[in-house]
Amino acid sequence: MGKGEAIMAAADTPLLMLNAPLVATRLGYPDLSGLDLLELYAFVYPARFLVPTPKGLAHALGLPEPASEDAVPALLQAAANALLERCEAPDWPEREGAWSALQSLIRMRWPWAGPLTARIARPERAERWLFSRLPEWEDAPERPQPAQVLLYEDEVREQLAALTGEAAEQRPGQRAYAAEAAHAFAPRQREAAPHVLLAQAGTGIGKTLGYLAPASLWAQASGGTVWVSTYTKALQRQLRRESRRVYGGARPDGSQPVVVRKGRENYLCLLNLEDALQGGFGGRAAILAQLVARWAGYTQDGDMIGGDLPGWLGTLFRQRGITSLTDRRGECVYAGCPHYRKCFIERAARASAQADIVIANHALVMVNAARGRDAAQRPTRIVFDEGHHVFEAADSTFAAALTGAETIELRRWVMGPERGSKGRRRGLAARLADLASYDEAGGKAIAAACHAAEALPSDGWLQRLVEGAPSGPLEELLAAVRATVYARDESGGQEAGYGLETEAAQLEGPFVEQAQAAREALAALRQPLIRLGLRLEALLTEPPDWLDGPGRARIDGARHALAWRVDLLAGWEALLDRLGGPADPAFVDWLAVDRSDAREFDIGLHRRWLDPMRPFSQTVLEPAHGVMLTSATLKDGHGGSGGGSGDDGWDAAVARSGAGHIGVSPRLSAFDSPFDYAAQAEVLIVTDVPKGDMPALAAAYARLIEAAGGGALGLFTAIRRLRAVHGRIADRLARAGLPLFAQHVDPIDTGTLVDIFRDDPRASLLGTDALRDGVDVPGHSLRLVVMEQVPWPKPSILHRARRLAGDGAGNGIGRGRGSAHDDRIIRARLAQAFGRLIRSRDDRGHFVVLSSAFPSRLLSAFPAGTPIHRLTLDEALQRVGGRVSADGVAIGNSA
Ligand code: SF4
Repeated sequence: MGKGEAIMAAADTPLLMLNAPLVATRLGYPDLSGLDLLELYAFVYPARFLVPTPKGLAHALGLPEPASEDAVPALLQAAANALLERCEAPDWPEREGAWSALQSLIRMRWPWAGPLTARIARPERAERWLFSRLPEWEDAPERPQPAQVLLYEDEVREQLAALTGEAAEQRPGQRAYAAEAAHAFAPRQREAAPHVLLAQAGTGIGKTLGYLAPASLWAQASGGTVWVSTYTKALQRQLRRESRRVYGGARPDGSQPVVVRKGRENYLCLLNLEDALQGGFGGRAAILAQLVARWAGYTQDGDMIGGDLPGWLGTLFRQRGITSLTDRRGECVYAGCPHYRKCFIERAARASAQADIVIANHALVMVNAARGRDAAQRPTRIVFDEGHHVFEAADSTFAAALTGAETIELRRWVMGPERGSKGRRRGLAARLADLASYDEAGGKAIAAACHAAEALPSDGWLQRLVEGAPSGPLEELLAAVRATVYARDESGGQEAGYGLETEAAQLEGPFVEQAQAAREALAALRQPLIRLGLRLEALLTEPPDWLDGPGRARIDGARHALAWRVDLLAGWEALLDRLGGPADPAFVDWLAVDRSDAREFDIGLHRRWLDPMRPFSQTVLEPAHGVMLTSATLKDGHGGSGGGSGDDGWDAAVARSGAGHIGVSPRLSAFDSPFDYAAQAEVLIVTDVPKGDMPALAAAYARLIEAAGGGALGLFTAIRRLRAVHGRIADRLARAGLPLFAQHVDPIDTGTLVDIFRDDPRASLLGTDALRDGVDVPGHSLRLVVMEQVPWPKPSILHRARRLAGDGAGNGIGRGRGSAHDDRIIRARLAQAFGRLIRSRDDRGHFVVLSSAFPSRLLSAFPAGTPIHRLTLDEALQRVGGRVSADGVAIGNSA
């Protein structure tokens, strides 16, 4: 049937469907609702993985795969039956809690409640409440400091052989890499001078087990912990799998040798969940809370973002539902929380203190090094995998943003919810209620902070700014920022709908005065917070009678939360202080209005370090003993023709390690990929798709995907063009049985999009930056990568400043520092994107760039020996369609 008929049918009767929001988007009918099988699956099988497609559903339920589109409706019916029948089976492992959850869901009129009622019998004994079912964590004694050990090459090799298994293929590159990685774990010779190792390992070296071999050996011999840090969730998942395989299960004492540790905003906060279950959430969000509660009873570690909570669950409801169940705003009351002893966050923190290997991400490692709650838990041996992203991670970790969204968050953290807002959110006074009532000095400091926080933006600030009626010194400053940014906009409306920015320079007197008034208001808030922090410290040193054990733990938690807000305020003040005066060359400052789809969503001032590796070197490197940065693309270029920066490709990587700031020369090593790129891959530079010609660009994508029969990853540098191409070709490809998915179009999270893509060799996926190096799809599912153009860096103010500074890498030879800087960025992006294509020895594929003027100096981005052709689209289609042999002779019919 046509779209119109389908909409009518769905409006009349609740239909059985799979992923209602996706169906709604495809039909262009946002209000679609019905019996969504994904919701039923989440109820019946909480915490179990599912690729949310008909094929994925069939696999998960042990049903036959649908042979064609026509077979899908019958499959959905069979799947519904299978799921409902499961609830009647006596051996249903997820039975506990189902009946109670269903009673709530019946009251909420969940569409599945009716069909389930007859299937789920009332248990003979009353079910335990979720919060009493969850296990408690246990305190463990503090570990002594790690012993100083030397790792010998033979031991490392033996360990590697043990990890890879006797039958594993011999990989000489991996053995050499593992021996090299061991150097990062040697005893430190000088204070504040860690071993820093930069190791490039081409795809296929097996670097994960390569560094896990010395890391695990060191951890066992020394009794210490190695932090392994990734940038993407995909690698984190892979590491979790590999390291669990290496280590097996828990130790004899029940503790875990490998622990995944994330930022607290990733985990379910049980107190928030309890609040949501007891009326804090209404409508559809209340149903989500019930399904999350089902999951909470069965999850491995409570990780809601990238853990075992299905990534698609949030998008079935509303993403904010998931985020408001985490502890995003730092409102944790620690030992004052009734669920403290069961809290997932506390459990993960304790488990990681006992672990051999902690798997984390770059941001968390940096935040922990900068302001970890427990100094003994700060990472000292760190392997940064995806090391080429450490610079970016440091850039955002050490940034300051004085914006409306940030300041209103702080106001709420201090003052609590505004009138009329729902939920359990509480301000400082409520979180420290005992202090406020029993301790005079503490109480006064809290009251003064609440009073000072009134100067910060409040609900409706953005609207007031747009209407020209700002209230208070901060809103007035933001209004001035907004006015300045629009006044200086050079795009002539071209950039309508996207973010705007201007330098924080040549600002007029009234602007500077407003900035000073705002700075004073921030300082007036910082002072009582400092006083409060000192008071808390004094209470911990000499605890009064009214302060019990849990109270102490709570105050300790509050002290840390306070300390970093004091730092935050100091950073903002420093940023405002310098406006109107001379610029500080260590920083880049600018004003911005953030917009998305023509809607303003944030306004403010931003500050970045010109070289974020400076603070990184002081907070992360200096206290560490051994740090390794590894990646397939650490160096610049592969030493092929025409590129590089004149050195052997290491200069920029060394500068971007931060080691120079603490006077350390890193140890450098590179291991080439064992893959035969000459036989496995081809780079095709298509020269006849004119830049800016949208119909031609879309047609090129459609024809390339058709020629490859799907299995294509399309990479874009602008969301706008991605959407335009998707809009033009999705229907055409669907009719040819070639499903097309896209980031920023389909209401599906990125991780799930990649799962869908991996699972269906005929599917293709369009995306932006996150897909350029977060996708690990070995095999036939990914056989074509198409880049819409040369991935030039976005010409932002920050980029211009770093370009002028030559990135501090000193690699401005010949063509001027700025161009060398840009070239290096582009080569790195090309190398990362190319790296998606060939993931194993058996992979084959084409890498296509649509560019009529692809500079030769960028070609060294590709591994040496990879065949590169400049050709027309028609010629490229012949190659992609397998109609041309490797030596260029047509071997089949022409298109
Ligand atoms: S201890 Fe904090 S994060 Fe954990 S459940 Fe309680 S309030 Fe939430």
